Amino acid sequence: MSEKYDVIVLGGGPAGYVAAIRCAQLGLKTACIEQWINKQGKPALGGTCLNVGCIPSKALLESSQIYADAAKGLSSHGIEISGVRADVPTMISGKDKIVQELTGGIEHLFRANKIHWIQGSGSLLPERQIEVTDIDSGKSRFQADNIILATGSRPIEISAVPLHSDRIVDSAGALDWESVPQKLCVIGAGVIGLELGSVWRRLGSEVVVLEAQDTFLPMVDRQIAKDALRQFGRQGLDIKLGARVMASTVNEGVALEYTDKNGEQQLQVDRVIVAVGRRPNIDQLTLPEADLLIDERGLVHVNDNCETNIPGIWAIGDLVRGPMLAHKGSEEGVAVAERIAGKHCHLNYDAIPSVIYTHPEISWVGKTEEQLKEEGRAYKSGVFPFAASGRAKAMRDTGGMVKILADEASDELLGMHIIGGHSSELIGHGVMAIEFQGTSEDIARSVFAHPTLSEAIHEAALAADGRAIHIPNKKRS
Ligand code: FAD
Ligand code: AMP
Repeated sequence: MSEKYDVIVLGGGPAGYVAAIRCAQLGLKTACIEQWINKQGKPALGGTCLNVGCIPSKALLESSQIYADAAKGLSSHGIEISGVRADVPTMISGKDKIVQELTGGIEHLFRANKIHWIQGSGSLLPERQIEVTDIDSGKSRFQADNIILATGSRPIEISAVPLHSDRIVDSAGALDWESVPQKLCVIGAGVIGLELGSVWRRLGSEVVVLEAQDTFLPMVDRQIAKDALRQFGRQGLDIKLGARVMASTVNEGVALEYTDKNGEQQLQVDRVIVAVGRRPNIDQLTLPEADLLIDERGLVHVNDNCETNIPGIWAIGDLVRGPMLAHKGSEEGVAVAERIAGKHCHLNYDAIPSVIYTHPEISWVGKTEEQLKEEGRAYKSGVFPFAASGRAKAMRDTGGMVKILADEASDELLGMHIIGGHSSELIGHGVMAIEFQGTSEDIARSVFAHPTLSEAIHEAALAADGRAIHIPNKKRS
């Protein structure tokens, strides 16, 4: 007889573990099945995000930025340091320690919430059953009134550039190098490629980024993406657009062949990071008898409430439509748990922020100017550059801008786009304003502390009405 739960969550990443915690808070008997074995050979919760994604990448981005500042960036503050050296193995072990603390924290939360962690790999069976294969190949079955699928995603591999020990790695491999490659190629100028390319550039690699598309960061507002490309170029990230990698050969390093508008090109590098996107983990969900509907992109098909085509089976996170972001999956997890418990819950997909944690950070929420044009919506915009911000000047970090987009008639905030230091923290203002259906006038009438970077948001809102104080206005209000 299989053990029965109110809810079983399949996958313990940020979508799954958050769903499990919220279910348990609501009094539901909850189990979470997770198969992850960490670098130390131990079972771990936290999924991609905590083990090989958001957290370890941010740990290395912080360490590498501090190194780069110390090595060449502090003279503007009147600080001279000599003999600066990057101890990469210590950076990596420091990152590993953070990962272990955080994943251990989720284990603690599971115990505190009385969530049963079933260690092993789960396969979906009919009638809301799951078969789990444990590390010793032992099999057991579990049943639940509700199953939440949260198996996440994994890196896409390309046949032209197969992974090769530590010469050609995916994003996870690039978080574990203990030495700095002299010449590095990143394939894919997406969020992950740019973040990892930045880490190794700051630590001293010569970095070439090959991107098949002609458009840089197509999901980002054009004005912001253009500024980003310029700033990354100045940092020495050699981003080649319209460059599709066709083949690779491992020699003493890696020889790459790619095509661009001038024809076939060669590139010899020491190491390669393949960062061409992620695909959903659906292999153990699609047994023929399980009958789960998968959409044309290979994602589990769900409605607006994250319900699949099978009653009582829900799906959240990277496994389903929408941006592949940890916080998006977590909030879907909360919403599904509350629906299972009979509560009313609604997730506003228009107010989910995105961030690229490069320097400068690129953060946005809502619509881009191009999307509004495409929709034929009348809008107004306001832009304020950090070069005119007293705080940014004090920080010697004046690159970038805040851009605000609001409805021409109602003034409702439709988008906020920020490129600049710490914009990942600033974008929360835009999220709250959109969530509360605020207007650019609401932001313009709010008082922001001086001197702060957030004043740039205030000024951008004023600029949307032609009355910014610290820049000349294009239009007069
Ligand atoms: P996952 O985190 O992938 O978790 C799924 C879990 O399910 C895994 O632990 C897996 O082992 C488990 N699983 C899968 N199949 C089974 C099975 N059959 N049985 C049992 N367990 C199973 N997002 C952000 O929001 N901010 C960032 O800064 C950010 N940085 C990133 C940096 C990198 C380098 C990468 C790779 C990703 C980053 N992401 C970031 C994306 C983020 O990690 C994902 O969006 C997020 O982890 C998705 O959560 P999830 O729970 O849906 O899936
Ligand atoms: P993302 O999905 O945001 O992580 O971005 C991955 C990027 O990799 C996309 O912009 C793709 O265009 C790019 N890409 C995919 N395949 C190749 C390839 N063979 N050569 C260069 N870039 C690629």
